[in-house]
Amino acid sequence: MGDAGNGRIYVLRLGHRPERDKRVTTHVALVARAFGAHGFILADVCDEHVMNSIRRVLDRWGGRMYLECGVSGSRYVKEWRRRGGLVVHLTMYGLHIDDVIDEIRASPKPKLVVVGAEKVPRLFYEEADYNVAIGHQPHSEVAALAVFLDRLYMGLELHLSFPEAKVVVEPSAHGKKVVKRG
Ligand code: SAM
Repeated sequence: MGDAGNGRIYVLRLGHRPERDKRVTTHVALVARAFGAHGFILADVCDEHVMNSIRRVLDRWGGRMYLECGVSGSRYVKEWRRRGGLVVHLTMYGLHIDDVIDEIRASPKPKLVVVGAEKVPRLFYEEADYNVAIGHQPHSEVAALAVFLDRLYMGLELHLSFPEAKVVVEPSAHGKKVVKRG
């Protein structure tokens, strides 16, 4: 389990099926990084394709995320709570984000944000401190995580910069500019 210091945010991805979820799970990890999470944990399997993709992005674009894979999702969640952390499970069946986000943000506990793939076992609904709905329509774990982190950080995460980045984007009105850092 990572160094889950106060207030840090980790993302636990459940239900990854290597034969069909590589792209979506990679996007979950990329959103976790870009939107300010401190760790990404892939439950049950170690899909090296996914883990290497995120490692490559960290190497080139910076960021120091804690990465782990192949852990039991249910044990991880139980252990997280036992150690005093907060578990937030994103699900369309939960409480509306607007009704709980201030309370979650105010908690000084390290937070484990859990997202599923297909059907999420009942245990996670029961173990979570918060079951949070990003609206009550079915959509995607990528969208749910992005909106959750954006609301949690109140938009500030979009101004994050990563000091160890080898390259950075130079914003331009037209075209693409990327500059190398020395
Ligand atoms: N019917 C599935 C279920 O039992 O939750 C939905 C699976 S959905 C394709 C994959 C994941 O996206 C879910 O496990 C959840 O984490 C996230 N998700 C999808 N829609 C959501 C919503 N409206 N609010 C919060 N999370 C959502």
